[in-house]
Amino acid sequence: MKHLLVLSHCILNHAAKVEQDESELQDEYRVRAELLRLILEKDVQMIQLPCPEFLMYGSQRWGHVRNQFEHPYYIAQCRKLLETTLLQLEEYSQHPESFHLMGIVSVEGSPNCGYRLTCVGSKWKGEIGEDPKHVEEIQHSLRMVDEPGVYMKLLENELNERQLSIPIITMDEAVQAVKLL
Ligand code: SF4
Repeated sequence: MKHLLVLSHCILNHAAKVEQDESELQDEYRVRAELLRLILEKDVQMIQLPCPEFLMYGSQRWGHVRNQFEHPYYIAQCRKLLETTLLQLEEYSQHPESFHLMGIVSVEGSPNCGYRLTCVGSKWKGEIGEDPKHVEEIQHSLRMVDEPGVYMKLLENELNERQLSIPIITMDEAVQAVKLL
């Protein structure tokens, strides 16, 4: 029996992440390191999801919020990006005697790959300008909400449509699941 995890792209490649102060990511990186160590130790196989933000907005992108990605063309491109992964998941699911799909691992807080936590901002749009008051208004509109990001929500819908019952789990939950193997 092969155990498989589907990982959000930047769990394997954090070069794809939006440029930021990496010291703020230390907690995430600690869990990531533990997860990757356990994955190798327990011989879990890995499928890497494409990163929609890097592919569509590149390495020079600003940090976005979920509402900026919630438009039909972007979601249609995400659906295309997920297509080959979903076909692979269908194939593995057809052979449960050989393959155990443990879950799809989210990146909490991301506007795309968060599952239980994502970021929104009603004023996070348009020209930033130079007026410090306007900049503050933009910053203060940022909120973290206990909801999925655009990409994970879409992936969940696509899984449901294909009647694939694969849980979407956080990195912490993936660590616990791999420990139990
Ligand atoms: S979109 Fe997803 S995979 Fe890409 S950097 Fe953000 S969290 Fe990581």
